[in-house]
Amino acid sequence: SPRTSAIAAATSFKPSYPPMNFKDEPTAQLFNANVFSKATMKKRLPKEVYKKLVQTIEAGEKLDCSTADVVASAIKDWAIEKGATHYAHVFYPLTGSTAEKHDSFLSPDGDGSAIAEFSGAQLIQGEPDGSSFPTGGIRVTFEARGYTIWDVTSPAYILENTNGTTLCIPTAFVSWTGEALDKKTPVLRSMQALNAQAQRILKLFGHNDGSLVSSTAGPEQEYFLIDKNFYYARPDLLNAGRTLFGAKPPKGQEFDDHYFGAIPDRVLSFMFEAERELFKLGIPVKTRHNEVAPGQFEIAPLFESANIATDHQQLLMTTLRRTAEKYGMVCLTHEKPFAGVNGSGKHVNWSMGSSSQGNLLDPGDTPHENAQFLLFCAAVIRAVHKFQGLLRSVVASASNDHRLGANEAPPAIISVFLGDQLTDVFEQIKSGGANSSIPKGTLTVGVDVLPPLPKDAGDRNRTSPFAFTGNRFEFRAVGSNQSIAGPLVAMNTIVADSLDFCATKLEEATGGDPAKLHGELQKLLTEIMNEHGAVIFNGDGYSDEWHAEAEKRGLLNLKTTADALPILQTEEVKELFTKYSVLSERELESRLETYLEQYVMSIKVEYNLTLKMAKTMIFPAVIRYQGELVSNCASLKMLDYDFDTKTLDKVTLLVKSLQDSIAELEEAGAENGSEDLLAEANYYCHTILPLMNKVRGFADELEGIVADDLWPLPTYQEMLFIK
Ligand code: ADP
Ligand code: MG
Repeated sequence: SPRTSAIAAATSFKPSYPPMNFKDEPTAQLFNANVFSKATMKKRLPKEVYKKLVQTIEAGEKLDCSTADVVASAIKDWAIEKGATHYAHVFYPLTGSTAEKHDSFLSPDGDGSAIAEFSGAQLIQGEPDGSSFPTGGIRVTFEARGYTIWDVTSPAYILENTNGTTLCIPTAFVSWTGEALDKKTPVLRSMQALNAQAQRILKLFGHNDGSLVSSTAGPEQEYFLIDKNFYYARPDLLNAGRTLFGAKPPKGQEFDDHYFGAIPDRVLSFMFEAERELFKLGIPVKTRHNEVAPGQFEIAPLFESANIATDHQQLLMTTLRRTAEKYGMVCLTHEKPFAGVNGSGKHVNWSMGSSSQGNLLDPGDTPHENAQFLLFCAAVIRAVHKFQGLLRSVVASASNDHRLGANEAPPAIISVFLGDQLTDVFEQIKSGGANSSIPKGTLTVGVDVLPPLPKDAGDRNRTSPFAFTGNRFEFRAVGSNQSIAGPLVAMNTIVADSLDFCATKLEEATGGDPAKLHGELQKLLTEIMNEHGAVIFNGDGYSDEWHAEAEKRGLLNLKTTADALPILQTEEVKELFTKYSVLSERELESRLETYLEQYVMSIKVEYNLTLKMAKTMIFPAVIRYQGELVSNCASLKMLDYDFDTKTLDKVTLLVKSLQDSIAELEEAGAENGSEDLLAEANYYCHTILPLMNKVRGFADELEGIVADDLWPLPTYQEMLFIK
């Protein structure tokens, strides 16, 4: 059977790739090797052109055509030396994936031969026929023009495939009316908004040097690896990215023996190669380890500017998937591939900083004296409280719904974890002013040979969706399969709004007199904490008490995507995004529509798969087994043996239940056809999903009874433990 041959193939895999080391391939040769980095630009561009380009990258100045021509020609020469034959404008449509259109460098020259050509115009602008990308009604096919525009701030890079090498140019994707059709454009706009408001605050503190404040992001990516033979034997994994059937394995994650355990050989080889590729692309991956669930792992790069981190995140997911294939595995980035074991998230570490001020969320040792930090931190707290619904809606997806709120990931309630030290400081502020910070102290282990260590100011809290972790916030509700663009756009914009609020108040109250700043700031912080302190919660976010307490505090608990997405329609959110020119009303509407559509479509696919697998794989296996039991019982009866029919009774009962539940699901699916997307989303959420689970329930129970050699699908145990 496909299942047994999958097991045989999986257990006999032998990787044959040399491991990476920094001796044979020094880091300098490796890191950024495939990136048209600043260093490469400097080497290859005339001084004047290089200067102009850097000014464009760093200060946002416009690039003129003649400069673009020179840059294009240099990029082309570099790319061709690296083996490239084509160039591609890479863009990030609303599906959350990465799209690219390849064009050859080769142009016929009219005399019967051809030359390699790449002009500034081709570098700067492209026009893919993107009419099939979801745009939520912004474009109808007769006005389907969409342009890709070079994002100078994100470097061009080379992608090496077995069958060819391509120069990739990160671009923004907009309609011919200039509306954003992608995920990158609003990230860039939101960074601009954040910078503008942060500058006003810094000015109040006397920092006038104008160095750009940019938001920084460091995403930690969780993923599963399974042998590809199992993947191809499971139509649900193949088509929906998650298992729609499968009984809990006898052994799951309860021993915690996988978490941070030794990494299996085959996986380690995979990691070496993936990291090597990522280094070449200039992605600074730093951390790798096993995660909680068997077969689950994590990779985390060092933080970068939000825009670049977003592009790199997309590239990282693609690289993981591609590399896994080489090792006979499949990398699953779905948020919940396996029911009953932990799902995967993407913790997005977020902060803001500038070259002259450093990290603006660094509290120092005595935060109560660090007025500037307190203001930036309070601005974040206010933002999260005021826009908790928005933060929930930007992580909403059909797949992430299986994870949020399921005692393994943060709940759907958005709250802020501050830790003991900062909570104490802000409590003091609430009652009039902060005079002290709890000292960090030292950690003594009680073993003489272990040195005393400086202690962190607070313990970690793994249950909070939005946690302060020393010098940044960590947004943990983001799903492993999601682009981090949405969450970053939201965070940048809501914090810009808070900084705007604070700057306006302080500018008015001080009338430009720096001597008044301290007193006015004190008042403002007290006001913010009184109004928004309810969002701070340091306890166990998984507990039932928190759900009750959060309700008392008036915090939102938007359990599903169907509940969360409509937040994008609220006046408050529309106003926020239009005020800072991050998304127009039309752009926002188009996003809502697209995300609702995607939600419905994903569940529709799962609905179809559930029916198909139940009818054509599970049901046939079950009645075969039932048939065996029947003939066995009949023979025993004929021979006058004493026997009981318990197993047959049980199977027969379950077969009937399975059949009925399939019919019920099929009927419910046929019934629906609402014109209204939100109504349809709710129908799929509250009617179809529960019926799918009902079918699954009977099938999973049968998996525990039916003869193992008849069971058609690779089991959880096989998929999670055979490496
Ligand atoms: P943990 O698992 O303990 O939370 P990791 O080391 O796995 O931590 O990941 C922490 C992430 O936070 C890294 O990507 C790191 O670069 C990032 N980070 C650190 N400082 C900042 C900052 N100022 N802004 C954004 N991200 C940051
Ligand atoms: Mg981590």
